[in-house]
Amino acid sequence: MLLEVDHLTTAYGGLVAVADVSIGVAEGEIVVVAGANGAGKSTLLKSISGLERPRGGTITFAGERIDRLAGHLITSRGLAYVPENKRLFPRLTVRDNLRLGSWLHRREPDREAPLETVFRLFPRLAERLDQRAATLSGGEQQMLAIGRALMSRPRLLMLDEPSQGIMPKLVDEIFAAVKVIRDSGVTVLLVEQRLMESLEIADRAYVLQTGRVVLDGPARQIMDDPEVRRVYLGM
Ligand code: ATP
Repeated sequence: MLLEVDHLTTAYGGLVAVADVSIGVAEGEIVVVAGANGAGKSTLLKSISGLERPRGGTITFAGERIDRLAGHLITSRGLAYVPENKRLFPRLTVRDNLRLGSWLHRREPDREAPLETVFRLFPRLAERLDQRAATLSGGEQQMLAIGRALMSRPRLLMLDEPSQGIMPKLVDEIFAAVKVIRDSGVTVLLVEQRLMESLEIADRAYVLQTGRVVLDGPARQIMDDPEVRRVYLGM
C-alpha cells in the first residue's frame, strides 16, 4: 500500500470525528471515501495531511510514518491535498497560484514542467492565466486548486469534495480529469458525497458513517450493494 491508515482516531475536544478508521490506498488506484455530511470525511483527509493531529492510530505513506510530521514535510513526501475550501490565493492570478504550487521544486530548472499536463487537463486555465483566482467560477477555481496541487508533482493526490457547489457539466469534467490524472501515474484518494458518480471512476471505496467505516470493497460491489442503493439512491 502507498498509503496506510491504521486504527486512526481524531477528535475535536470530546467529539470523536474519526473513530478507529483503517483504510489503504495502493499505488495507481482511485479510492473513494463516501459518506453523508458530518461523517468525518474531511477530518480524515485533514489528519492524513497534518492539519489535525490524530489522537490515536498510525498513518504510513510509502513506508514512512507521517502522523507526527509537520504539514509541509508531509507535502514534501509527495502527498498533495486539495481542501474543501480550496485555499487559493484569491488576489493572485491563475499563473501565480500555479507557480506557488511548485514551490517545493523552486530550485529545479524544470519547475514548471507539470504546467503542460495541467493545461491539457484544464484548457480553461490556460486561457485565464492573468485572471485573478477570486474572479474564476466555482468550477474553474476547483480546476485551479487541482492544477496547483499537481504542480507539486505528487505521488498521492487527495481531493475533498471537488464536485461541491459546481454545475453538473463541470462535475463531469472534474471526474473525467481525476481519471486522467490517475492514468498519468498519480494515485488518488477522493472524498465525495456524490457516491454514484465517484464510484463510476473509482477502483475501491469506503463508506463512513459517524466517523466509522461501515462498508468497504471494490467500487462495483458497493454500487450494487442493496443497502447502499436504498440509503443513497432511495431505491
Ligand atoms: P462534510 O461533507 O459536511 O464536510 P465530513 O464527512 O467531511 O462532512 P467532517 O467535516 O470531518 O465531516 O466533520 C465530522 C464531525 O466533526 C462533524 O460532527 C463536525 O461538526 C465535527 N467537526 C469538524 N471540524 C470541527 C472543528 N474544527 N471543531 C469541532 N468540530 C468539528
